[in-house]
Amino acid sequence: MMKKIFDIIMLKSRFSNVAIRHRATRPAILHAVSATFITFVLTVTSALAGIAHGGTVVVTDAQSEYNLGTELEILHDKAGSLSIQSAMAATQWKQSKQDSVSLGLSADNWWFRFDATSTASKEQLLLIELAYSSLDYINVYLVDHGKIIQHFDMGDHYPFHQRPIDHHNFVLPINWPAEKTLSVYLHVRTSGVVQLPLTLWKPAAFSASDQLRQLSFGLYFGAMLIMMVYNLFMYFGLRDRSFIHYVGFVACIALFVASLTGYSYQYLWPNSPKWNGQSIGFFLSMAVFFAILFTYRFLKSDNRERPPLIRYGIASNYILSIVMIVSSLTAPYTKMLVFVIGGSVFACVGALLVGIHGWMAKESAARHYLLAWSSLFISGIILAGNKFSYIPKNGFTDNAVQIGSSMLVALLSFAIAHRINEEKRNRFEAQLETLNHERAARAAKEEALNAQRLANKELEIKVQDRTEALREANNILQEMSSTDDLTGLKNRRYFDENSNQEYVRCFRYQHPISLIFIDIDHFKKFNDTYGHLIGDEALRTVASLLAQADMRDSDIVARYGGEEFCVLLPETELDGALAVAERICASIANEPFMVNGQRIPITASLGVTSHIPTSPEYVTHLVQTADQALYNAKGNGRNRVESLLDNETSSAKSRAND
Ligand code: GH3
Ligand code: MG
Ligand code: MG
Repeated sequence: MMKKIFDIIMLKSRFSNVAIRHRATRPAILHAVSATFITFVLTVTSALAGIAHGGTVVVTDAQSEYNLGTELEILHDKAGSLSIQSAMAATQWKQSKQDSVSLGLSADNWWFRFDATSTASKEQLLLIELAYSSLDYINVYLVDHGKIIQHFDMGDHYPFHQRPIDHHNFVLPINWPAEKTLSVYLHVRTSGVVQLPLTLWKPAAFSASDQLRQLSFGLYFGAMLIMMVYNLFMYFGLRDRSFIHYVGFVACIALFVASLTGYSYQYLWPNSPKWNGQSIGFFLSMAVFFAILFTYRFLKSDNRERPPLIRYGIASNYILSIVMIVSSLTAPYTKMLVFVIGGSVFACVGALLVGIHGWMAKESAARHYLLAWSSLFISGIILAGNKFSYIPKNGFTDNAVQIGSSMLVALLSFAIAHRINEEKRNRFEAQLETLNHERAARAAKEEALNAQRLANKELEIKVQDRTEALREANNILQEMSSTDDLTGLKNRRYFDENSNQEYVRCFRYQHPISLIFIDIDHFKKFNDTYGHLIGDEALRTVASLLAQADMRDSDIVARYGGEEFCVLLPETELDGALAVAERICASIANEPFMVNGQRIPITASLGVTSHIPTSPEYVTHLVQTADQALYNAKGNGRNRVESLLDNETSSAKSRAND
């Protein structure tokens, strides 16, 4: 039981396991002794019979599996002219020294033979298995004392159904007569590698061993299928072409192994021997093609930073793989095989170099890739070494491709997953960076906006300040333009503008409006006597007296020109205006104006008028009438008030103040 498990784990071939088998038989010492004795007797008998050659396999009850490697004798028929009869008679037979006969690439005719004796007392079914499914033609002859008693034609150049037992290897059932020695001759002709891993089985042992083998192949193909389906779905999900290349690669590797082991001939194209011969090279070439596609994409080998040697190496590998594919379908088998295997090794070395370069450049995807690829490379070397007879056939060489390819497939799958992870991480980091940039940009924008807002506010404040200052300046200007410099009273311009407004207002409401004209008496003389500066002082004094006169806010007191002043009194009838005029007249006359300690009398004449406007434009009438009244006051002796209603001179109160 333990041995079986060990066999499964190590995928050990039963062919190489002679030593273990012999140990298993050791307890049956009696059997061994009797077997040796019988062998000896049979050998002697055979020698006497003239057909003596090599050893004879003795099939005993105790043993159920016989590796025939070292039991075989080999005859090289270079000319390819020997018939079975001449082969039987030939004397150049040489004893095999290999556990599993492997003669390398040879298109020659080869003959192999062995003798076997059944010690059973009854006829028993024995199976001869040739566990190399790529041989083209195998003619098997069962010979009893120089007489051919059975003949089989096998090989993958015959349709599959011609095999006596449906099996991916060549399995011959033979009903072995009781206690009989028979010779088995095998004539082999193939255009590929000549290998003859031959085993003689008892059916039960074959069946048990075969089950394990089928199970291991089932596991292998199942795993490959799962990887294909899984990665195909990954492709549909992620749309990364690496997956398609990977799936193509896995499919071709699986089909290559199936062709190499005869499974595809058994199940996929049993009636196409020609295609079957081409399929090994074809699928291997296709696998190389997909591997290069995968490498190119997976390691981003078109990257301009890669050294030209790598880029051109991969490009030339492309061409090589395409030539391999074409040649696998067209070239003669032997040449094709050398070319395809050589090309595969070359491509594999190329892939390894790309991986090493990426690894040295610290690309983590390349590290996984390199690890994956090394496993296939090693198994490829072992397989090629075995095919060209540098490495003996054993359990490992038999399964090297399966082991190497399944490791490659699994590790590549890891590599893809790792790369996707890495890309995801890179994408995430890039997103994070973009986000940070965005955030920074937003903050900068906000800051700029704030600065602008602040600047705007400052500007607004400045504008407000300036507007205020302007308004004040304007007010001052306005004030200045409406004020008389000398006296500080409103000037003539102000009077003209505002008297008109007041006049219109009184017209609208039909209210009375009055006007007083004041002219200082003999002022020319005053100036002449005291000088203009004193005259100015006198003007200022009169002005201040006018300003102090108890009047309403709406009244306008102005310097009309020179030494003339006026007072406009809206909403005031003649009586009210006369009262004001009298008050002014008296206050001027009573003002103690001092010059050089001497009181100088100043008097003024006043003309008063009043009416309810009959037209908004009749303000000039008012002025003219007041002027006329003033003129009358001058004429009537000065220092007095005269009133006049329109153009008619009315007798007004007059009062002499002197
Ligand atoms: P009347 O009694 O007829 O009014 O005699 P008058 O001398 O006042 O007559 P008139 O109107 O001819 O003289 C006005 C004088 O007032 C002339 C001018 O010297 C003087 N005067 C006018 N404006 C000013 C001023 O701003 N300052 C000074 N000091 N004198 C002025
Ligand atoms: Mg005057
Ligand atoms: Mg005057």
